[in-house]
Amino acid sequence: MQIDPFEFARRQDGRHGDIVACEMRRMADLGWQVVQGSFDLRGGGAANGPWWIDLRATARVRTVCQRCLGELGVEVNADSRLELAASEAEADAADDDDVDRIDGSRPLDVATLVEDELILALPMVGRHESCEATVVPDRPDGPLGKALGAWTGRRLSQ
Ligand SMILES: [Zn+2]
Repeated sequence: MQIDPFEFARRQDGRHGDIVACEMRRMADLGWQVVQGSFDLRGGGAANGPWWIDLRATARVRTVCQRCLGELGVEVNADSRLELAASEAEADAADDDDVDRIDGSRPLDVATLVEDELILALPMVGRHESCEATVVPDRPDGPLGKALGAWTGRRLSQ
């Protein structure tokens, strides 16, 4: 799904959807598999600018713990305001660290944008806080609980 960023912002358009795990290839390459997630995009701005797109995304992701090699589930949340620049050069030239700017002059792929922001929100290191007392971060009958069920069952029976 692609959007025209400036038009999206000016119309105060919105998009909501589920995150499709197989579209999150860069995250998979980094060792993080998306179990389930959703995103919400909202356009807005002022008549004389700046225009922006607000992105909220939440995803349950899993990886292998770098300490015990057990499976690790984490909830990742992204909440960003992306100001639209008139060109890529303008987006790159912005030296204000408090504001995220993206090139608004070209069509924007929603899945790519969502993945960009989720990658920024990933933990630095995929590791249980305490490997001994691993807790499933979900109900056993929830999506992640089910996904981790085989592994937790083994662990709890030991
Ligand atoms: Zn661990």
